[in-house]
Amino acid sequence: MSKIKLGIVGYGNLGKGAIEAIKQTQDMELVAVFTRRDPQHLHLDDQNVKVAHISEASDYKNDIDVMLLCGGSATDLPEQTPYFASMFNTVDSFDTHAKIPEFYKSVNEVATKNNTTAIISVGWDPGLFSINRVMADAIIPNGENYTFWGKGLSQGHSDAVRRVTGVKNGVQYTIPSEDAIENVRSGENPELSTAEKHNRVCYVVAEEGADQAAIEHEIKTMPNYFAEYNTEVNFISEEELKRDHSKAPHGGFVIRGGNTGAGHKQIYEFSLKLDSNPEFTSSVLVAYARAAYRLNNEKQFGAKTVYDVAPGYISPRSPEELRRDYL
Ligand code: NAP
Repeated sequence: MSKIKLGIVGYGNLGKGAIEAIKQTQDMELVAVFTRRDPQHLHLDDQNVKVAHISEASDYKNDIDVMLLCGGSATDLPEQTPYFASMFNTVDSFDTHAKIPEFYKSVNEVATKNNTTAIISVGWDPGLFSINRVMADAIIPNGENYTFWGKGLSQGHSDAVRRVTGVKNGVQYTIPSEDAIENVRSGENPELSTAEKHNRVCYVVAEEGADQAAIEHEIKTMPNYFAEYNTEVNFISEEELKRDHSKAPHGGFVIRGGNTGAGHKQIYEFSLKLDSNPEFTSSVLVAYARAAYRLNNEKQFGAKTVYDVAPGYISPRSPEELRRDYL
């Protein structure tokens, strides 16, 4: 059986994770990684992987079945997805929720015109969480959806901590409030703000001689980032930061509480606990590459989201095997 041939655009956290995720499949292989940087000076962890400049990607039109787009959501994907969808089937992880409708429109136009299949906003949120929000809502119409994120390292909030005067280094974790989760699981369907659902915990390395009380005060009162939250600040050494806080864990919960019949409480819950957010997210992208390939073979062109892809399309197993062993 010939393998599905993949390309990766962008060598960041997701790009690195995608290389590893492809190695764990039997039915897919990596053709090349494409980067905007000079390929000569890009040192890949795996020396056997071929690297090419992004401008050469069009030469690979006949050699690659699906491009995994691993650029950032803020500025890379709004440009890269329409550009690559004009030549390749694509999968991306665009996660700016508010802009998904306009992103879908621009990608759909290009993909429909060029007979390609572009699955957008794949990952865990958006992605697997989105699927579970819709499933729970359809099954228990009389109820309420809740999404909790964490425990997870937040890049934006970690940057904010590092900008505080006297801070040498630091990270911030978003942690779902146990009280809020228990409240939701009890079926009470409480009204909760984002701040009530999450706590923020910071690990800070202070500059030598810095005023720790002043740092803690500045972090805890920072508007938009920490002031509205229950925030904890811990001071640690540079060694402890390196040793204990250099991974990128994340995860969270989608919970729907509702009622059926004569008021029977029903709780639908889906959760993820991830040691490495980028490695998991890129594993989702790789699984959905199978779907992009298969949908395209069926002439299902245009932009798709996880809502348009049946689970069997992302599985390496045959429909017979799925019916026999997984149903
Ligand atoms: P990242 O590491 O910042 O990489 C983004 C791009 O920046 C890369 O494709 C790479 O492009 C460039 N880059 C990376 N490291 C660089 C360096 N040292 N110097 C110069 N350029 C560098 O971002 P990421 O962590 O992979 O995340 C990508 C996106 O995934 C995020 O923006 C986020 O929106 C999305 N995401 C989605 C989910 C989900 O559940 N849907 C989950 C996690 C993340 P070149 O190789 O072309 O330079």
